[in-house]
Amino acid sequence: MQPPDISKTEQKRIQARGFKGFLNDPDENGVQWIKRKEDNACFFLTKEKKCAIYPVRPQVCRLEPFTIVDYDYKKNTIELEFNFPFAECCIGTCDQKVDPPVQEIGRAAQILVQKILAITANDLGLLATDERVQSETRSRFLRRVVEMADLQL
Ligand code: SF4
Repeated sequence: MQPPDISKTEQKRIQARGFKGFLNDPDENGVQWIKRKEDNACFFLTKEKKCAIYPVRPQVCRLEPFTIVDYDYKKNTIELEFNFPFAECCIGTCDQKVDPPVQEIGRAAQILVQKILAITANDLGLLATDERVQSETRSRFLRRVVEMADLQL
């Protein structure tokens, strides 16, 4: 499993907790990903398989073990898919003493869609409420071209 890419805002939140040296150098697109450890796990996954930065974990981790696979702007619904490899590798996404945080996962999905609508609107020079923006946003999810690092969450 690839540890997540991460926005500058998310980096600062994690650094404020005293963590350093957790990012790879930017890739060819300027995107920075959280490092892997020797066993290939995420830098922040503890021996107990918990997330060391749970309260400030990246937005994409709040959504996991689900990923957004579709956004129906006509019905105003977001379709999530269970990401089985992530659920197996990173139990750190959930507090294991309680049921999956369904409301938090729903909020994370809504925030991601809103951010991507805003970015798409900016790219197209249109309002986020424009159907062409909503259609292109849906298409970005279907093509899986969304980079978390662009979102400034
Ligand atoms: S939730 Fe998992 S993938 Fe995300 S930062 Fe924490 S340990 Fe890493």
